Amino acid sequence: MTTVAHSRDELGRARQALTGKTALVPTMGALHNGHRELIRQAKNLADDVVVSIFVNPLQFGPNEDLARYPRDFDADLEMCEAEGVALVFAPSEKTMYEREPAIRVCAGPIGQRLEGASRPGHFDGVLTVVAKLFNLTRPDVAVFGQKDAQQLALVKHLARDLDLGVRIEAAAIVRDDDGLALSSRNKYLSPDERQAALALPAALEAAAEVADNGGAPAEVVAAAFGILDSADGVVSDYVALVDPDTFEDPSGGAALLAVAARVGNTRLIDNVVVTIQKG
Ligand code: AMP
Repeated sequence: MTTVAHSRDELGRARQALTGKTALVPTMGALHNGHRELIRQAKNLADDVVVSIFVNPLQFGPNEDLARYPRDFDADLEMCEAEGVALVFAPSEKTMYEREPAIRVCAGPIGQRLEGASRPGHFDGVLTVVAKLFNLTRPDVAVFGQKDAQQLALVKHLARDLDLGVRIEAAAIVRDDDGLALSSRNKYLSPDERQAALALPAALEAAAEVADNGGAPAEVVAAAFGILDSADGVVSDYVALVDPDTFEDPSGGAALLAVAARVGNTRLIDNVVVTIQKG
């Protein structure tokens, strides 16, 4: 049986009943098989899994999709029940932000790059809600997806730099059979747009091949750009090869190739880790 908590009181009572190790999976709902994998990984790491479902207004820009972000609580709960989740925390906006927060987490320089450059304030909003969720649910471990690689890196820094006492675990990207990374925002895509969106995984695959063949960073990036820019209906936002921890230029070894592109009105992101030759 999955317990559902909407209020802080309900959460407090339900959390107290969980006496073993707990793992938190923070989500914005509209759960898909990518979230399911995070939940399964969390189950392997702890006695009880807590899933939070909250569409966090703090991380959306004024012209973004907060109002139309997909929401389906009944289907989400069904998945959580099927996966043996102990506790679902689904607060209202009012419960999470009783008043406008005077204090926010500042994501720092890493939070200004890539997604942060395209979405000013996004990561301050993400890290603020993650810190609140950690404090409210007090997990031993929390699982985040590699799909949002910059978010994952920043949450690791958050936990370490503020000594939050939560271990952060990464879960690999879950893709559809045709390679498109699963995302709640894929629901926005028309059939034609969904087809066009395959340019993202295709760009990553082509670039990874260039890296495997010893290509220089500029060649790896150019291979990805080439595919994105020649795809009809796709407008690239950025293609970047960065150090997966600092998001600075990679110095050789593992590097993160991250892409963001607009397909119609939908902004999609994807990434792959490649190996870059030193020097
Ligand atoms: P969201 O509900 O989109 O905020 O995502 C909640 C968590 O699920 C985040 O840690 C995401 O990185 C992760 N996630 C979303 N999509 C995927 C995916 N396709 N594969 C792996 N993790 C994912």
